[in-house]
Amino acid sequence: MGDPDTVLRRVFGYDTFRGEQREIIEHVVGGGDALVLMPTGGGKSLCYQIPSLVRDGVGVVVSPLIALMQDQVDALTALGVRAGFLNSTQTPDERRLVEAEYLAGELDLLYLAPERLGLESTVRLLDKGTIALFAIDEAHCVSQWGHDFRPDYLALSMLHERWPDVPRIALTATATPATHEEIATRLDLTGARHFVASFDRPNIQYRIVSKAEPRRQLLELLRTEHAGDAGIVYCLSRASVEKTAAYLVEQGIPALPYHAGLDGATRARHQSRFLREDGLVMVATIAFGMGIDKPDVRFVAHLDLPKSVEGYYQETGRAGRDGQPSTAWLAYGLQDVVQQRKMIDDSDGDAAHRRRLAAHLDAMLALCETVECRRVRLLAYFGQRGEPCGNCDTCLTPPESWDGTVPAQKLLSTVLRLDRERNQRFGAGQAIDILLGKSTPKVTQHRHDQLTVFGIGTDLHEADWRGVVRQLLARDLLAVEGEYGTLTLTDGSADVLRGNRTVMMRREPERRRAPKASRRA
Ligand code: ADP
Ligand code: ZN
Repeated sequence: MGDPDTVLRRVFGYDTFRGEQREIIEHVVGGGDALVLMPTGGGKSLCYQIPSLVRDGVGVVVSPLIALMQDQVDALTALGVRAGFLNSTQTPDERRLVEAEYLAGELDLLYLAPERLGLESTVRLLDKGTIALFAIDEAHCVSQWGHDFRPDYLALSMLHERWPDVPRIALTATATPATHEEIATRLDLTGARHFVASFDRPNIQYRIVSKAEPRRQLLELLRTEHAGDAGIVYCLSRASVEKTAAYLVEQGIPALPYHAGLDGATRARHQSRFLREDGLVMVATIAFGMGIDKPDVRFVAHLDLPKSVEGYYQETGRAGRDGQPSTAWLAYGLQDVVQQRKMIDDSDGDAAHRRRLAAHLDAMLALCETVECRRVRLLAYFGQRGEPCGNCDTCLTPPESWDGTVPAQKLLSTVLRLDRERNQRFGAGQAIDILLGKSTPKVTQHRHDQLTVFGIGTDLHEADWRGVVRQLLARDLLAVEGEYGTLTLTDGSADVLRGNRTVMMRREPERRRAPKASRRA
C-alpha cells in the first residue's frame, strides 16, 4: 500500500496531515502503542485507518457504535478500502462471510462490537489471521469514573495479554485528567505514547441562558440567528422530544424527532434525512449523535441540563465540524437541578455510584453558574489552559456578580422555620410565595402568612428568587428531597445563616438579545 503520505493522497484524497496525525500514524506503523485524545472532528479515524493499510494484516477496530458500522464500512468501500464488521445485528450467514474474508486476508479493516471480543470463537478466529493493529474507539467507555461506562470495555485489557506484539491505539474525544489516567491503566496502556490535542473548538460560541419558556426561547434563537440552518436540539425525555419537534414543525421549522422509543426503521430514516438533507433540525434524546459525521451542523441546543460536562462537551462538539461559526446554546433553570438531583437519588447502584453522578452534576452546575469565560472553565475541566475567549456569553455580555448573602439567609430561614416551627417541608414555589407575601390558597390553608418571614422578600422578583434557589442548590447550600422536591438545609446552610459565609451570585444579563447583536447595537 505504500507509506502514510501516499495512502493519505491516493486513498483518502487529502494533501496534508492535520495536527498530530502524522506523528501518531508513524508511531503506530512502527509498532508502538498510542493513546489519542482529540476533539470531535479532529481526524481520529485516519490515525488507525492509515496504519491498518500500511502494516501487514487487518486493522481490528473495536467500537461501541454498532448502528454506524454499516455506514463506516460503506464509506471505506467507496474509497476502495476492503472493510467489514461483525456485530449482533448480522445473521449467522452474514457473519460467516466476513469471517471467511478475514481468514482469506481479503480485509484491510474489521470493525468489532466490544462484546464480540468476549467470545472465545472470535478470539480463535482472530488468531488464525494476521492482525495489523487494534484500535479502541471511544476509549473513555472503559472508565467507570467517566460518563459513558460500558462493562464490555473492561475485557479489552486482554488484548495486550493475548497479542503482546500487536500495537494498540486507543482514541477518545472526551477525557478529564482522571479519565485519561483510568483509560491508560485499565487498557494496560501505561507504556503507550500519549497524544493530547487541544480540546478547544474556537468556532463554537458557548451560551447558557436561564430557562423561562424554553420552546419559545429556542424558536427565537432559530428564527433570529439560525434560519434555514441544520442543528440538533437535545431534550431529556422522549415526550419532550415529541412535543418540541411538533412545536417547531407547527412554527414552520422542518424538524424530526429521534429517541429510543421510535422503531429502528423510523430512527434510521430520520438519521439519514438529517445527514443528507439541508436545514433539518433533529430533536433528540442523547441516544442520537455519537459518531454522526455531519460537517455543517450550525447549532446544538439543549433544552434540559446535561448530566455531565463530558456529555455537554461531546454533544455540543457535534456543531461546526467544518470549522465555521456555530452555536452551542443551553437553557437551564431551577427545575433542572431539582429533577436531576432527584434522578440521582432514585438511581440504581451503590453509594459510590451516586456520589459519582452527583460530582458530574456539580461540575456541570458550576459551568452554568460561572461568571468567568465558559471556554476557560470547560478547558480547565479537561485539564487544559485557555484565555478568555471573546466568543462565549460571559465574555460577550459579562453577567453581574452580586452579593446574595441576605436573600440567601431569607430563603434559608424560611426553609428552617417551616421545618422547626411547623415540622413541614415544601418545594421552592411555596417558599418563594411566602417570601413574596402572596396569599395564595396554599399559603392561607397552611397559615404560612403567620410566619415571621412572610413578605420579607418583596425587594426581589419571582425570577430573581428562582435564581437564588437555583444557585443555592447548585452549591449544595440547600438540598431537595423526595418525590415532590421539597427543600431542606445542608451542612453548608448553617454557615450562611450564621453570617459566616458570603454568597456571591450571578445575575443574568436578562432578556438581552443574542450577545453578538447586543454588542453591535
Ligand atoms: P473524529 O473521529 O476525530 O471526530 P474524523 O476522523 O471523523 O474525526 O474526521 C473528521 C473529518 O475531517 C472527516 O470528514 C475527515 O475526512 C476529515 N479529515 C480528517 N483528516 C483530514 C486531513 N488530514 N485532511 C483533510 N480532512 C481530514
Ligand atoms: Zn469566553
